[in-house]
Amino acid sequence: MIIIMLGAQGTGKGTVAGLISEQIGIPQISTGDIFRKNISEKTPLGIEADKYISKGNLVPDEITVPMVDDRLTWEDAKNGAILDGFPRTIEQAEKLDEILQKNGKKVDLVINLVTPKEEIIDRMLTRRVCTNQDCKATYNIKLHPPKVEGICDKCGSPLKQRADDSDPEAIKRRLEIYEEKTSPLVEYYKNKGVLRTEEVSLSVNRMGKDVAEDVVRDIRNNSL
Ligand code: ADP
Ligand code: ZN
Repeated sequence: MIIIMLGAQGTGKGTVAGLISEQIGIPQISTGDIFRKNISEKTPLGIEADKYISKGNLVPDEITVPMVDDRLTWEDAKNGAILDGFPRTIEQAEKLDEILQKNGKKVDLVINLVTPKEEIIDRMLTRRVCTNQDCKATYNIKLHPPKVEGICDKCGSPLKQRADDSDPEAIKRRLEIYEEKTSPLVEYYKNKGVLRTEEVSLSVNRMGKDVAEDVVRDIRNNSL
Protein backbone atom coordinates (compact mmCIF):
# COMPACT_ATOMS: atom_id res chain seq x y z
CA MET A 1 0.00 0.00 0.00
CA ILE A 2 1.38 3.38 -1.01
CA ILE A 3 0.21 6.26 1.18
CA ILE A 4 1.11 9.91 0.64
CA MET A 5 1.00 12.60 3.31
CA LEU A 6 -0.07 15.99 2.03
CA GLY A 7 -0.49 19.22 3.98
CA ALA A 8 1.36 22.42 4.79
CA GLN A 9 4.33 22.61 7.14
CA GLY A 10 3.37 22.16 10.76
CA THR A 11 0.16 20.21 10.14
CA GLY A 12 1.73 17.09 11.64
CA LYS A 13 2.46 15.01 8.54
CA GLY A 14 5.52 13.45 10.15
CA THR A 15 3.67 12.56 13.35
CA VAL A 16 0.73 10.98 11.52
CA ALA A 17 3.02 9.13 9.10
CA GLY A 18 5.12 7.80 11.99
CA LEU A 19 2.10 6.45 13.85
CA ILE A 20 0.59 4.78 10.79
CA SER A 21 3.97 3.34 9.82
CA GLU A 22 4.45 1.78 13.28
CA GLN A 23 0.99 0.27 13.31
CA ILE A 24 0.72 -1.17 9.83
CA GLY A 25 4.38 -2.04 9.41
CA ILE A 26 5.34 -0.16 6.28
CA PRO A 27 8.24 2.34 6.32
CA GLN A 28 7.83 6.10 6.58
CA ILE A 29 9.92 7.69 3.86
CA SER A 30 10.51 11.36 4.61
CA THR A 31 12.52 13.23 1.99
CA GLY A 32 13.23 15.99 4.54
CA ASP A 33 14.66 13.40 6.97
CA ILE A 34 16.82 11.83 4.27
CA PHE A 35 18.18 15.27 3.35
CA ARG A 36 18.85 16.18 7.00
CA LYS A 37 20.69 12.89 7.59
CA ASN A 38 22.86 13.57 4.54
CA ILE A 39 23.49 17.16 5.67
CA SER A 40 24.62 16.05 9.12
CA GLU A 41 26.90 13.42 7.56
CA LYS A 42 28.20 15.98 5.05
CA THR A 43 27.67 13.65 2.08
CA PRO A 44 27.87 15.21 -1.43
CA LEU A 45 24.06 14.95 -1.66
CA GLY A 46 23.70 16.66 1.71
CA ILE A 47 26.08 19.51 0.85
CA GLU A 48 24.22 20.15 -2.41
CA ALA A 49 20.73 19.89 -0.85
CA ASP A 50 21.62 22.21 2.03
CA LYS A 51 22.16 25.10 -0.41
CA TYR A 52 18.41 25.01 -1.10
CA ILE A 53 17.03 23.80 2.23
CA SER A 54 18.74 26.47 4.35
CA LYS A 55 16.94 29.13 2.29
CA GLY A 56 13.60 27.35 2.41
CA ASN A 57 13.68 26.47 -1.30
CA LEU A 58 12.89 23.12 -2.89
CA VAL A 59 15.76 20.80 -3.73
CA PRO A 60 15.83 20.25 -7.54
CA ASP A 61 14.08 17.19 -8.96
CA GLU A 62 17.34 15.85 -10.46
CA ILE A 63 18.45 15.18 -6.88
CA THR A 64 15.13 14.41 -5.19
CA VAL A 65 13.40 12.09 -7.67
CA PRO A 66 16.22 9.49 -8.10
CA MET A 67 16.65 9.51 -4.31
CA VAL A 68 12.99 8.51 -3.80
CA ASP A 69 13.08 6.07 -6.72
CA ASP A 70 16.03 4.30 -5.09
CA ARG A 71 14.54 4.33 -1.57
CA LEU A 72 11.36 2.65 -2.83
CA THR A 73 13.39 -0.33 -4.08
CA TRP A 74 14.64 -1.23 -0.58
CA GLU A 75 13.47 -4.54 0.85
CA ASP A 76 11.47 -2.90 3.67
CA ALA A 77 9.29 -1.09 1.12
CA LYS A 78 8.26 -4.15 -0.87
CA ASN A 79 4.76 -4.10 0.66
CA GLY A 80 4.42 -0.35 0.48
CA ALA A 81 5.47 2.90 2.12
CA ILE A 82 4.20 6.15 3.53
CA LEU A 83 5.72 9.06 1.68
CA ASP A 84 6.07 12.16 3.81
CA GLY A 85 7.29 15.29 1.99
CA PHE A 86 7.16 13.81 -1.50
CA PRO A 87 5.68 14.58 -3.99
CA ARG A 88 5.68 18.33 -3.53
CA THR A 89 4.91 19.48 -7.08
CA ILE A 90 2.73 18.21 -9.93
CA GLU A 91 5.92 17.25 -11.81
CA GLN A 92 7.06 15.12 -8.86
CA ALA A 93 3.60 13.50 -8.64
CA GLU A 94 3.77 12.57 -12.32
CA LYS A 95 7.26 11.16 -11.88
CA LEU A 96 6.09 9.18 -8.86
CA ASP A 97 3.25 7.68 -10.90
CA GLU A 98 5.84 6.51 -13.45
CA ILE A 99 8.13 5.06 -10.78
CA LEU A 100 5.26 3.16 -9.16
CA GLN A 101 3.84 1.97 -12.46
CA LYS A 102 7.13 0.40 -13.45
CA ASN A 103 6.90 -1.68 -10.24
CA GLY A 104 3.22 -2.55 -10.70
CA LYS A 105 2.16 -0.20 -7.90
CA LYS A 106 0.04 2.92 -7.58
CA VAL A 107 -0.87 5.59 -5.03
CA ASP A 108 -3.60 4.03 -2.86
CA LEU A 109 -4.34 6.81 -0.39
CA VAL A 110 -3.46 10.49 0.04
CA ILE A 111 -4.01 11.94 3.50
CA ASN A 112 -4.38 15.70 3.23
CA LEU A 113 -3.94 17.43 6.59
CA VAL A 114 -5.51 20.85 6.96
CA THR A 115 -4.74 23.23 9.85
CA PRO A 116 -5.81 26.87 10.25
CA LYS A 117 -3.06 29.37 9.27
CA GLU A 118 -2.99 30.94 12.75
CA GLU A 119 -2.00 27.61 14.27
CA ILE A 120 0.56 26.65 11.65
CA ILE A 121 3.36 29.14 12.43
CA ASP A 122 3.01 28.44 16.13
CA ARG A 123 3.29 24.71 15.48
CA MET A 124 6.44 25.20 13.41
CA LEU A 125 8.09 27.31 16.12
CA THR A 126 7.29 24.77 18.85
CA ARG A 127 8.38 21.73 16.82
CA ARG A 128 11.46 19.79 18.02
CA VAL A 129 13.28 16.88 16.41
CA CYS A 130 15.48 14.11 17.79
CA THR A 131 19.17 14.72 17.00
CA ASN A 132 19.74 10.97 16.51
CA GLN A 133 19.54 10.67 12.73
CA ASP A 134 18.51 7.03 12.95
CA CYS A 135 15.54 7.95 15.19
CA LYS A 136 14.30 11.33 13.92
CA ALA A 137 11.25 11.33 16.19
CA THR A 138 9.39 14.64 16.18
CA TYR A 139 7.79 16.42 19.12
CA ASN A 140 5.97 19.61 19.85
CA ILE A 141 6.78 21.30 23.14
CA LYS A 142 3.17 22.46 23.51
CA LEU A 143 1.04 19.78 21.87
CA HIS A 144 3.10 16.63 22.06
CA PRO A 145 5.95 17.18 24.54
CA PRO A 146 8.53 14.50 25.39
CA LYS A 147 8.24 12.92 28.86
CA VAL A 148 11.53 14.56 29.91
CA GLU A 149 12.13 18.08 28.61
CA GLY A 150 14.64 18.20 25.75
CA ILE A 151 15.10 14.40 25.62
CA CYS A 152 13.72 11.94 23.07
CA ASP A 153 11.25 9.40 24.56
CA LYS A 154 12.28 6.76 22.06
CA CYS A 155 16.08 6.84 22.19
CA GLY A 156 17.16 9.27 24.93
CA SER A 157 19.05 11.61 22.58
CA PRO A 158 18.77 15.39 22.92
CA LEU A 159 16.06 17.20 20.94
CA LYS A 160 16.70 20.32 18.91
CA GLN A 161 14.89 22.84 16.75
CA ARG A 162 15.44 22.44 13.01
CA ALA A 163 17.54 25.28 11.52
CA ASP A 164 14.84 26.08 8.94
CA ASP A 165 12.17 26.17 11.68
CA SER A 166 13.96 28.92 13.61
CA ASP A 167 14.43 31.24 10.63
CA PRO A 168 11.28 33.35 10.01
CA GLU A 169 12.33 34.07 6.41
CA ALA A 170 12.75 30.38 5.62
CA ILE A 171 9.38 29.60 7.26
CA LYS A 172 7.67 32.26 5.15
CA ARG A 173 9.31 31.03 1.98
CA ARG A 174 8.32 27.40 2.67
CA LEU A 175 4.68 28.34 3.25
CA GLU A 176 4.64 30.37 0.01
CA ILE A 177 6.09 27.45 -1.93
CA TYR A 178 3.51 25.16 -0.38
CA GLU A 179 0.67 27.39 -1.57
CA GLU A 180 2.09 27.83 -5.04
CA LYS A 181 3.60 24.46 -5.88
CA THR A 182 2.27 21.82 -3.51
CA SER A 183 -1.37 22.75 -2.90
CA PRO A 184 -2.34 21.94 -6.55
CA LEU A 185 -1.68 18.30 -5.62
CA VAL A 186 -4.94 18.30 -3.64
CA GLU A 187 -6.87 18.64 -6.91
CA TYR A 188 -4.54 16.20 -8.69
CA TYR A 189 -5.25 13.42 -6.20
CA LYS A 190 -8.92 14.33 -5.78
CA ASN A 191 -9.31 13.67 -9.49
CA LYS A 192 -7.72 10.26 -9.02
CA GLY A 193 -10.25 9.44 -6.29
CA VAL A 194 -7.65 8.75 -3.59
CA LEU A 195 -7.83 11.94 -1.51
CA ARG A 196 -8.82 11.90 2.15
CA THR A 197 -8.86 15.35 3.78
CA GLU A 198 -8.52 15.54 7.57
CA GLU A 199 -8.67 18.63 9.74
CA VAL A 200 -6.04 18.80 12.47
CA SER A 201 -6.66 21.68 14.82
CA LEU A 202 -6.92 22.68 18.44
CA SER A 203 -10.17 24.45 17.55
CA VAL A 204 -11.88 21.12 16.81
CA ASN A 205 -9.76 19.20 19.31
CA ARG A 206 -8.52 16.84 16.62
CA MET A 207 -4.82 16.02 16.66
CA GLY A 208 -2.54 13.94 14.47
CA LYS A 209 -2.91 10.87 16.66
CA ASP A 210 -6.70 10.93 16.16
CA VAL A 211 -6.26 11.01 12.38
CA ALA A 212 -3.73 8.16 12.51
CA GLU A 213 -6.10 6.06 14.65
CA ASP A 214 -8.99 6.51 12.23
CA VAL A 215 -6.90 5.76 9.17
CA VAL A 216 -5.35 2.63 10.71
CA ARG A 217 -8.81 1.39 11.74
CA ASP A 218 -10.13 1.90 8.21
CA ILE A 219 -7.12 0.14 6.70
CA ARG A 220 -7.62 -2.81 9.06
CA ASN A 221 -11.33 -2.95 8.20
CA ASN A 222 -10.34 -2.95 4.56
CA SER A 223 -12.62 -0.04 4.00
CA LEU A 224 -9.94 1.85 2.09
P1 ADP B 1 8.68 20.96 5.91
O1 ADP B 1 7.58 20.28 5.17
O2 ADP B 1 8.38 21.21 7.33
O3 ADP B 1 9.21 22.16 5.19
P2 ADP B 1 10.48 18.69 5.29
O4 ADP B 1 11.25 17.98 6.33
O5 ADP B 1 9.44 17.93 4.56
O6 ADP B 1 9.92 19.99 6.00
O7 ADP B 1 11.48 19.30 4.22
C1 ADP B 1 12.54 20.14 4.57
C2 ADP B 1 13.15 20.75 3.33
O8 ADP B 1 13.68 19.70 2.50
C3 ADP B 1 12.17 21.48 2.43
O9 ADP B 1 11.98 22.82 2.82
C4 ADP B 1 12.86 21.36 1.07
O10 ADP B 1 13.91 22.29 0.97
C5 ADP B 1 13.48 19.99 1.12
N1 ADP B 1 12.56 18.96 0.56
C6 ADP B 1 11.92 17.98 1.22
N2 ADP B 1 11.16 17.23 0.39
C7 ADP B 1 11.35 17.75 -0.85
C8 ADP B 1 10.83 17.44 -2.14
N3 ADP B 1 9.94 16.45 -2.33
N4 ADP B 1 11.25 18.20 -3.19
C9 ADP B 1 12.12 19.20 -3.02
N5 ADP B 1 12.63 19.56 -1.84
C10 ADP B 1 12.26 18.86 -0.75
ZN1 ZN C 1 15.16 9.76 19.28
